[in-house]
Amino acid sequence: MGIIRLMDEPLSNKIAAGEVVERPTSVVKELVENAIDAGSTAIEVLLTEAGLTSIQIVDNGAGMDSEDALLSFSRHATSKIANEHDLFRIRTLGFRGEALASIASVSKVTLHTSNGESGTYVHMEGGRLIEHRAGALRKGTDIQIDQLFFNTPARLKYMKTLQTELGHSIDLMNRFALSYPGISFKLSHDGRMILQTSGSGDIKRVISDIYGVSIAKKMIPFEGESHDYKISGYASLPEITRANKNYISLFVNGRWVKHYAIANTVHKAYHTFLPLERQPIVVMNIEGDPYLTDVNVHPAKQQIRLSKEKELMELIHATIRGTISSAVRAPVIEKPKAPKQTPSKQLDIWKSSFTVKEAVEELRGKEDPIFAEASPIKESVHPPAEERKVAETTPFETLEEKLYDEQPEMPPAGPEFEEDTSPQFPELEVVGQIHGTYIVAQSDDGFYLIDQHAAQERIKYEFFREKVGDIDAGERQALLLPLTFHYSRDEALRLKDSLDLLAESGVFLEEFGDKSFIVREHPTWFPSGFEQEVIEELIEQVLDERKVDVKKLREDAAIMMSCKRSIKANHYLQKHEMERLLADLKNAEQPFTCPHGRPVIIHFKTYDVEKMFKRVM
Ligand code: ADP
Ligand code: MG
Repeated sequence: MGIIRLMDEPLSNKIAAGEVVERPTSVVKELVENAIDAGSTAIEVLLTEAGLTSIQIVDNGAGMDSEDALLSFSRHATSKIANEHDLFRIRTLGFRGEALASIASVSKVTLHTSNGESGTYVHMEGGRLIEHRAGALRKGTDIQIDQLFFNTPARLKYMKTLQTELGHSIDLMNRFALSYPGISFKLSHDGRMILQTSGSGDIKRVISDIYGVSIAKKMIPFEGESHDYKISGYASLPEITRANKNYISLFVNGRWVKHYAIANTVHKAYHTFLPLERQPIVVMNIEGDPYLTDVNVHPAKQQIRLSKEKELMELIHATIRGTISSAVRAPVIEKPKAPKQTPSKQLDIWKSSFTVKEAVEELRGKEDPIFAEASPIKESVHPPAEERKVAETTPFETLEEKLYDEQPEMPPAGPEFEEDTSPQFPELEVVGQIHGTYIVAQSDDGFYLIDQHAAQERIKYEFFREKVGDIDAGERQALLLPLTFHYSRDEALRLKDSLDLLAESGVFLEEFGDKSFIVREHPTWFPSGFEQEVIEELIEQVLDERKVDVKKLREDAAIMMSCKRSIKANHYLQKHEMERLLADLKNAEQPFTCPHGRPVIIHFKTYDVEKMFKRVM
């Protein structure tokens, strides 16, 4: 007597409907979920040609009897829910009763299954039953999907390259492994083992299998509980960062979900620990009554709707922030000190008319304190939020605003504007510097504060923007020792698909084993001492954008590099260095905002100052 029932129509109508089989990865997802729901402790996935030729999943779960083995391929056939009430307390990964039916309709399926008492064999093609008979008694299920989309060739056309498809499946299997450390997963492709976890139950070990030992060592465990939710997992120390949120793995009651608000809260919990726009690596399990976590929102079941969301967000924020704060030694804020060395000509290289070669020679030649990190605090890369707020809420307008006010016919700020000639930059005379951070200057109509970091970012940004991707400049620097880069397998595969794109930014990655790459040379304009970092950043950008936009890549790279080497706050400058900086700024195409859009210069009008001192009314 089987356990699968056909849903009645009112119930099936309440299920978020839609086609679930979009690509090989969605088949892998549904079948592995079935294996997990069947209580398996070992699940093996074997793919041929990224799953387009065949997908086989072997589990050691409960299996099915002969009747169920047949029924499982009917639409709305499930053993997991019986009535509408059950829809609100789903504890299994599946519940729609549609996956096997959908998969069988677009492929050729061979199923061997046994519940330990009887064995069954079923063969289907394009949704039609070809054979159903008794089979072997090995407990568990072995299901093989051959020639996916053989009868819907249009679907096949949408498939990207095999490597990209495979990359998606590896990513998926990584997440299964992270959310079920107690299950031993194996994934192989064309006979080669790609992922293998022990099933020991230790998440940290899985993290190490997937991201590598060195990252696993820097992951801190956390745990927290509120009235309705329990969370646990691992969060990276701030020294490890990534360019995107892909490394934040969220599981709600064992289900991998994509939840923008939660990922955002995780990111916020790291506020001031990470440079802006960088993301941590986090693996988090969230447990709550299934009643609070509605998974019946989307057919692929990857989106969920949460009740008591605010409570959960507070729990996540407090737990992760607390964990990271206590794991990180408080950074020592160094007192600003005057440069020990005699002022160098370093800033001169940012004059607008240098050649790449000159610039590089200058950069290579000297390490100057002006270009070194001024403070050990990471977030000083961007001014802390509080600092920015002061600038934003100042009663005085930024110079840019002023110029727009006075010349209403000026086009609005924006990319078009950059092509135009800048509004006139004032003639400035340097008065001094405050807090090693702001330059004070004066002109006929008042005084000015210039954020030295933002100013230099702008100048360098314009320099790098010209140079990124300018392979024609032809100047390349061979590295004494090649640099090596290691990635997880799915990333490595995706990267292999994007080598051409990366080459456009002047970085030629060579494959070195299946997860590593080497770089032997790079464009000469790369800031020296930062080659590894710059290349890693470029690679991450390529990985981040599934569809790649060379223009944006260049733009981002220019911003990143200008930021990397700009003078930080808390750094004292000589008068002639400040003068040089202002002269370069005056030559910039768009001197009034930094590449992140923050003001570079703020104008304190004589008239306003006089009003404050009540010299005028
Ligand atoms: P759902 O998972 O939503 O119930 P599926 O179409 O994925 O729907 O599967 C239909 C039914 O087939 C499941 O409810 C389950 O009873 C049975 N089944 C599928 N795969 C397995 C498996 N690997 N082991 C045991 N039973 C399975
Ligand atoms: Mg299912």
